[in-house]
Amino acid sequence: MSTITASEEQRVVDESPKQLYIGGEWREGSKGTLSVEDPSTGEALCDVADASTDDARAALDAAVEAGPEWAQVPPRERGEILRRAFEAITERADDLALLMTLEMGKPLKEAKAEVTYGAEFFRWFSEQAVRIDGRYAVAPNGQGRLLTMKQPVGPCLLITPWNFPLAMGTRKVGPAIAAGCTMVVKPAQQTPLSMLMLVKILEEAGLPGGVVNLVTASSSGETMGPLIADPRLRKLSFTGSTEVGRTLMEQASQNLLRLSMELGGNAPFIVFDDADIDAAVQGALIAKMRNIGEACTAANRFHVADRVAEEFAEKLAGRISAMKIGRGTEEGVEVGPLIDAKQRGKVQELVDDALGKGAKALVGGHARDGAGYFFDPTVLSDVPEDADLLSEEIFGPVAPVKGFDDEDEAIAAANNTEYGLVAYVFTRDLKRALRVSERLETGMVGLNQGMVSNAAAPFGGIKQSGFGREGGPEGIEEYLETKYVAINL
Ligand code: NAP
Repeated sequence: MSTITASEEQRVVDESPKQLYIGGEWREGSKGTLSVEDPSTGEALCDVADASTDDARAALDAAVEAGPEWAQVPPRERGEILRRAFEAITERADDLALLMTLEMGKPLKEAKAEVTYGAEFFRWFSEQAVRIDGRYAVAPNGQGRLLTMKQPVGPCLLITPWNFPLAMGTRKVGPAIAAGCTMVVKPAQQTPLSMLMLVKILEEAGLPGGVVNLVTASSSGETMGPLIADPRLRKLSFTGSTEVGRTLMEQASQNLLRLSMELGGNAPFIVFDDADIDAAVQGALIAKMRNIGEACTAANRFHVADRVAEEFAEKLAGRISAMKIGRGTEEGVEVGPLIDAKQRGKVQELVDDALGKGAKALVGGHARDGAGYFFDPTVLSDVPEDADLLSEEIFGPVAPVKGFDDEDEAIAAANNTEYGLVAYVFTRDLKRALRVSERLETGMVGLNQGMVSNAAAPFGGIKQSGFGREGGPEGIEEYLETKYVAINL
């Protein structure tokens, strides 16, 4: 990878749309603009439209108007639009990755991986669009027939976070388009550019106006509240924090909206004493350091068998301390900045709390001075039970390591959280692997690997990590209703 020039950076920012996209038209925001910042410098990258409540309502109007016609478009045509968009994303992967690195901070290599991962949802759902089916059955008493059919849910509101600015969008937009739904999309205000480019690509791929409408806004509660209260909206799909998810669920209860909630995590990473320790360290690096630790699936706590805990922590510290920190566009950088000063402050507080309660820093422990929101990759050992970072989502490059005595203790510790998104297990014993996978209270398990994301698999959590699944054959079901027709013969 060669170093990116300032003019290349400027070009991708200039090429990104900055306006709202409503009913197939690009237009200004009624509240003016909001600024997008580069977290590696703290400097402004550009301004994008700031929507008012009326703009948001216009976006829903457009989605409602386009709904009936879009639902009648043949599944193959819907799928082919997604397929063309998949190909366009793939062709423009370098530019999309650079744009993402600029607005979010992750290293270019990881941004590229997200573009590939995000594009896969369009490819997957282009194939699922033509596999929506129903059932025909003879009633048990032989009198009459039972017909079930799947139909699009209707206008959807899709709200996404900043940590995966493209993939969190394609995971929702892909199945919604495939199912025949229309939608309003609202990306996080910190990272709107990737989604703006995605919508431009969908427009170029031939998506009719009104099917996808994009609203960027500085005041998400004010603009989204009236949409959630609008009886014409049929579904809300949200990816973000558990706290905001709870508020949105409450609002959505008024109209009994269909909901998908992809919320926070607190993933345990369990290493048994029969594990391949080097493989576990490699898995830990991915589970912890991918996305600078700012992933819902990030390993939040390392539970390691007492016999190998010291070896594991030391090897992990060695690997982590060798990682290059810097601006994501620079060659060889593996750790970028955190998203903003608030997030960095929260990570520092959690580390200070653990150190104050007796944990030891094997490496790191501090925010970096200078421009940007950098935090030194950190490994903590001897972390006490009452350290806040064992129960809270860290969302930063900090790995707390804690020992355990036996399998029951490891499982009890892993399940001791309100969250239930993903867990990682490293062991060479097949029976133990399956036994432990069954007992973990999570929606997903990574077995001897530090990453679970795959467009062909159902991604999602249980407990306070939410409900609903994105990806896999399950993903499209979130955007379909089942209708039953009773047939009198
Ligand atoms: P967040 O603060 O909950 O925000 C997520 C989105 O919701 C943003 O677009 C935000 O807009 C919007 N929002 C905030 N308050 C709102 C309100 N009152 N009404 C309507 N929309 C509102 O989360 P985040 O900090 O962006 O993302 C990090 C969180 O996402 C972490 O907890 C992480 O675990 C979770 N996450 C979960 C998954 C998963 O699949 N389970 C995947 C990725 C991330 P603004 O930009 O205006 O704040």
